[in-house]
Amino acid sequence: MSKIIIANWKMYLSHEQALSVSKALVVFSKRVSADKKIVICPSYISFKDVVDIFRDSRVSIGAQDIFWEERGAYTGEISALDIKMLGGEYVLLGHSERRKNFNETNKMIHDKTRICLENGLIPVLCIGEDWEQKKNGQRDYVLIQQLNEVLEGISVSDSNKIIIAYEPVWAISAGGGVHASPEEVNYVQKVIRQVLLDLYDNFIINDVFKIIYGGSVTPENVKEYTDIQNISGVLVGGASVNADTFNKLIGAT
Ligand code: PEP
Repeated sequence: MSKIIIANWKMYLSHEQALSVSKALVVFSKRVSADKKIVICPSYISFKDVVDIFRDSRVSIGAQDIFWEERGAYTGEISALDIKMLGGEYVLLGHSERRKNFNETNKMIHDKTRICLENGLIPVLCIGEDWEQKKNGQRDYVLIQQLNEVLEGISVSDSNKIIIAYEPVWAISAGGGVHASPEEVNYVQKVIRQVLLDLYDNFIINDVFKIIYGGSVTPENVKEYTDIQNISGVLVGGASVNADTFNKLIGAT
């Protein structure tokens, strides 16, 4: 089964650094086998230049967020229309850093998902419990609630694609850094699939949805996740901003 590897560069790199990492990766990407899909999510500042650097490669570009309206008086926001027009294909939505620092709610993420799909962009929906919730045995409840509130009322056809990224907050390197065990990730993908089965027809789920894992993925542990049969790939933060490390990680899948 082909695997997707998504790089979330967050706000880690300066514009100059983003260009230099992209130029190195475009060379490496020529040797990546066709069953691996690479997606880079740079900052908005570098977005257009990074799209240009990867233009003739098989690497796709994603945004780290978008706003839920296409145009209007929304100071500081970014339109899905512009991301699409500039060559973006994917959008990270509901990342825990946005939920925590910008009070993003499931309703906002729902609206952003809708506008992504209307513009032919592939949403990468991040869900995950924090350490307190995990400790209190609330993990499954939290994930089910996040998924239901984000996806309820979102109708899909087989031309739509949606990626669900299970990113436990405690596992993200900037917020704890204890990567989840493959057994736990395998259990959670079954919980996610059950929610999808409650919301959508069985026959469409495999066409539309992919489930991936994110949280302290490194070249050393990535294969533990990509080897899980129903996990379609990984979302990588810290280990994606250095071209050699990210290239090693891609090679290790
Ligand atoms: C992330 O924040 O999306 C992430 C996966 O980060 P890291 O790989 O650094 O844990």
